[in-house]
Amino acid sequence: MRKRLWAEIDLSTISHNLRQIKKRVGPSVKIMGVVKANAYGHGLIAVSNLLVKEGIDALCVDNVEEGIELRKGGIFIPILILSSFWEEEVDLICNYQLTPTIFEKETAEILSRRALERGRKIKIHINVDTGMGRAGIPYKKAVEFIEEVNKFAGIEIEGIYTHFSSADEEDGKYSSLQISRFQEVVEKLKKRGIDPPLKHIANSAALLNIPSSFNFNCFNAIRPGLLLYGYYPSPLVTRSISLKPSLCLKSRVIFVKRVPPGSFLSYNRTYVTTRSTFIAILPVGYGDGYPRSLSNRGEVLIRGKRFPLVGRVCMNQSLVDTGDIKVKVEDEVVLWGTQGRGKISLEEVALKANTIPNELVTNLSQKVSRVYLGNLPPTRIDS
Ligand SMILES: *Cc1c(COP(=O)(O)O)cnc(C)c1O
Repeated sequence: MRKRLWAEIDLSTISHNLRQIKKRVGPSVKIMGVVKANAYGHGLIAVSNLLVKEGIDALCVDNVEEGIELRKGGIFIPILILSSFWEEEVDLICNYQLTPTIFEKETAEILSRRALERGRKIKIHINVDTGMGRAGIPYKKAVEFIEEVNKFAGIEIEGIYTHFSSADEEDGKYSSLQISRFQEVVEKLKKRGIDPPLKHIANSAALLNIPSSFNFNCFNAIRPGLLLYGYYPSPLVTRSISLKPSLCLKSRVIFVKRVPPGSFLSYNRTYVTTRSTFIAILPVGYGDGYPRSLSNRGEVLIRGKRFPLVGRVCMNQSLVDTGDIKVKVEDEVVLWGTQGRGKISLEEVALKANTIPNELVTNLSQKVSRVYLGNLPPTRIDS
């Protein structure tokens, strides 16, 4: 069936982005690729298989369910669970050999007990809250806590990490404060004979903005997400890594009409034509994950040229004013990505939609087919 909306994902760009990240951090820093939320909408298994093939050291997901999906998809490298888990998931964590994040003593106790029942040790990472204010053991209590956890016979502390709150801002003061709090925890632990092999802080923004957050001597692992997919987290980051965007969102014109001056278009009459003009209807809307906030603000590419979205973006339809140009039904439309000489970056769309690139790619509906180019055999689009 002819697709109304699809995402073309060029996997070779993800290989490129990973290599650029490696170049930035050096060969000795471990890379734990973040593939939560269906690999930021790019397809969990396809992306993860590629990252494994490219020699990534570990993967990070949000929760146990995602970890199990990876194992069932044939991924056998270490998988770190970033969020908390339910007690009933402890057996799954053991069975599927997932690496949980711990920041509560009770949880550590249960894990240790269940691991010992299986005659095993379970590897864990500890999340220290140095100022993100989300999950994690508060940094002031971290040393004492980790000493306690270290005593559990069924647990092996493989890693310790913290997460930046504001790495995508220009002013690095708060990030520096977080680094120094984390560093202090690491040093105090070392003095007490505890030195987890992996110590990590850097997310995508930090890899661009904060070189002191990764280095082999101290913070010897990183957790990039967004960069792998080829997008810059905010307009305020330095573009110190050269990226290739991996997802191009495409559609086709489904209807074309000519309207006279004074025509109201779409819900609530937010747009009225001032001249005779061609209007193209696209089969895409907020129900597909294309944000309604682009109403009267967004642009799309048709025949390599930019045209404005006019009127409200509807649930499954949008309108484009093509002026004097009579585009045709079935003409390809690019909502973000490149077409001929035209380019609309995801970052630009995110700014116009008043959000971040992450939200746009993760909001793409499951119904939107992912069509892979590059390392996988290309899927026919029109079959
Ligand atoms: C999502 C997440 C990351 C990756 O963030 P990016 O900004 O996409 O690189 C890293 N660490 C933690 C704890 C996260 O939740």
